[in-house]
Amino acid sequence: MGSRAPESVLVLNAGSSSLKFAVYRGAALEQTLKGQIEGLGGQPHVSAQWSDGRRLEPIAPADGVPLKDAGEAMQALLEGRLGLPLVQLDQLVAVGHRVVHGGTAFHQPLRITHGVLGQLRGLIPLAPLHQPHNLAPVQVLLDRQPSLPQVACFDTAFHRTQPMRAEIFALPRSYYDEGIRRYGFHGLSYEHVARALEPLDPCAHAGRTIVAHLGNGVSLCALQGGRSVASTMGFTALDGCPMGTRTGSIDPGVILHLARAKGMSIDQIEDLLYRRSGLLGLSGLSNDMRVLEASDSPGARLAIEVFVYRLVREIGSLAAALGGLDALVFTAGIGEHSARIRQAVCACLGWLGVAIDAERNEHPGAGPVMLATVSSAVRIWRIPTDEERRIALHTQRVVSEGQ
Ligand code: ADP
Repeated sequence: MGSRAPESVLVLNAGSSSLKFAVYRGAALEQTLKGQIEGLGGQPHVSAQWSDGRRLEPIAPADGVPLKDAGEAMQALLEGRLGLPLVQLDQLVAVGHRVVHGGTAFHQPLRITHGVLGQLRGLIPLAPLHQPHNLAPVQVLLDRQPSLPQVACFDTAFHRTQPMRAEIFALPRSYYDEGIRRYGFHGLSYEHVARALEPLDPCAHAGRTIVAHLGNGVSLCALQGGRSVASTMGFTALDGCPMGTRTGSIDPGVILHLARAKGMSIDQIEDLLYRRSGLLGLSGLSNDMRVLEASDSPGARLAIEVFVYRLVREIGSLAAALGGLDALVFTAGIGEHSARIRQAVCACLGWLGVAIDAERNEHPGAGPVMLATVSSAVRIWRIPTDEERRIALHTQRVVSEGQ
């Protein structure tokens, strides 16, 4: 071993238009580098920084050819064409991947073999917009470095503790048996938050908690004793609350009407529901909450009003499923950074005993912070999520246990 650098875990989160990566070093999994390649399919933009804050100056693909997808981005990274020093393959002990769908078979992170990859490909029809992109870098690495362990960590796995009544749609039972059921997503984020809450607030962790993951994707999860019992996202990541560009729950009759009366194709409806709705569609302005908060246009106001209203309704529904509420946790981009949204949501939950400390909410500082007043019947937390770290931890464990 001697002068060898400590071994590292590479975490990859591959989507349709971006490949996010992070590198963790040594047994303590100290994060050393984090970055992303955005704009896949067009002109890629690469950004990265070391954990001490120094920015890396990446280069555009040297040959000037656009990167088509996450697979090509992975290839370019490995070949050093982006000027990023992250992948010294001989120093990597493993690669952990965020994989959106584990279906009914995968309840835990696991090592990806050719056989497992085939099974994960079989789940593409359940998540056609995410799963193929998640798997593209897996194949590239399997081809190039077959002995390098790769671990899949699933967004659905954390929710497999839900009872059947929470998972099943009121369709004929055979549909459930063939896998048309509620899976829930953002599981790595919920797992991270649940683990973080345990030492911070053991009573809340042991009791009934709702976690609000408010990012570009938005969902809520009801936890009992740290385990998922219900969630707002269901069969796909389209269900539940309105999001940056997605509708959230919508009367299924609207879909039938769009197809029958307006003659829209499946692809057009998919585009409408996933990419042109939510905050963007309501505001006509932006899917970015920062832009909406800075605007006084009627569209921006409406989008924020609907966003808060629908969150509050879903929180009421999950509180009913839990039979009460001990803690409410805000996380992800909007949940961690938007005092206005936290304040507006909590203001509508007084009937549940929720009372937020306005001053602390405005100036919460960094890291986890308790935001409830002393008289609040419900504890209110702001806890930053860290899905990448959760993936790194799982990957390290799976590899060390030789699974
Ligand atoms: P993703 O789901 O892609 O990981 P994030 O968790 O980063 O997304 O959340 C992105 C959302 O967080 C965007 O709507 C962004 O506007 C919002 N956001 C980030 N910072 C702030 C802020 N200071 N105030 C309000 N919203 C914010």
